Amino acid sequence: MTQVLLKPGRERSVREGHPWIFSGAIASCPTSAVEEVEVISSKGEKLGRGVYSPASMIRVRMMRGEAASLVRAAVARRQIEPDAAVRLVNAENDGIPGLIADFYAGFAVCQFTSALAEFYRDQILDALMETPGLQGISERLDLDSRRKEGMAVNPAWRNLRGAEPPERIAITENGLKFLVDVRNGHKTGFYLDQREARKAVGELSAGRRVLNCFCYTGGFGIYAAANGAKEVTQVDLSADALELAGQNAALNGVKCAFERADVFKYLRTCRDAGRTFDLIVLDPPKFAETKSQLMKAARGYKDINLLAMKLLAPGGILATFSCSGAMTRDFFLRILQEAAADSGRRFQIAAETRQASDHPVGLAFPEGLYLKGFILREH
Ligand code: SAH
Repeated sequence: MTQVLLKPGRERSVREGHPWIFSGAIASCPTSAVEEVEVISSKGEKLGRGVYSPASMIRVRMMRGEAASLVRAAVARRQIEPDAAVRLVNAENDGIPGLIADFYAGFAVCQFTSALAEFYRDQILDALMETPGLQGISERLDLDSRRKEGMAVNPAWRNLRGAEPPERIAITENGLKFLVDVRNGHKTGFYLDQREARKAVGELSAGRRVLNCFCYTGGFGIYAAANGAKEVTQVDLSADALELAGQNAALNGVKCAFERADVFKYLRTCRDAGRTFDLIVLDPPKFAETKSQLMKAARGYKDINLLAMKLLAPGGILATFSCSGAMTRDFFLRILQEAAADSGRRFQIAAETRQASDHPVGLAFPEGLYLKGFILREH
């Protein structure tokens, strides 16, 4: 097998189980093709096996097992109800760098975001097909991560194995129903990672006037309404997301108001009109893709959080999230502290959330924790 030689001192993270080797850590490599390689320390020690990716900054991704058995083991760790939506494989954190596989009521949707995942594509798909209750597998290709690896990004979606999913798959989450568009929706169609936070917000919603910002297909707001919120306003920029959000509300027999607006402007409109809410959800898209965008992102987070804090009625609750991987939990908390200070209001952390447990974090892969959340209550 082709051998990749590391520079002196660059073996530690690999030995600890981190799956990435950046180009700067490599002393020599005799290949420029995507292939399996053996990684060797500067002292000649064998560190393990990986897949070389000449087009990527992450030049080697490590694999500590065989693709099919890693997929089977990941699936076996999940509890899969036939009509549920579950992440089956969470990439690096389940030992398969760059492979996402989500299950939507019998239909799996994959993202192959690394040369490694692409390299083991057939073994991965064969193993995934063994998932109980699975009728078919499709894939999303329209991803920046694929572009960065030099991999095709067209068509945006395609079926790979078995039956094609319906245009909208009906899934059940904590007793609520949602329609998922796996062809055009965000990610693989749904924000599975917020399942536990949606439940937590639902449980705090009874009798409250709720504003759900960046609502996408209505998740947090529908949980709030179903749990007895006094009124629910859902805001998003995307007409497609709002259309599906409306269908989801009807499917669950709940009433919500929908506003197509830019949240940054909408919050200011509410402020100028003197409107208040008892519970506000802020679940924005990734503001920082990379570390270099972090300071600009921080200003964005501070802006919306400060505005939201000021819109809260006394004793109000702010459920606020950051899904930017580059934003650490502590930095996000610091931004919230500054926003609270500027708002002149005092908050306690009623709960802290993170990505749902079917999105585990590899202990050796801190990058795996990307979704942070705080439920703040004024006191
Ligand atoms: N909370 C949702 C997921 C939110 S994803 C859930 O639980 O399913 C982020 C959403 O923000 C997307 O739907 C996107 O359309 C929307 N969005 C992005 N920028 C926006 C802006 N400036 N104003 C309003 N919505 C925005």
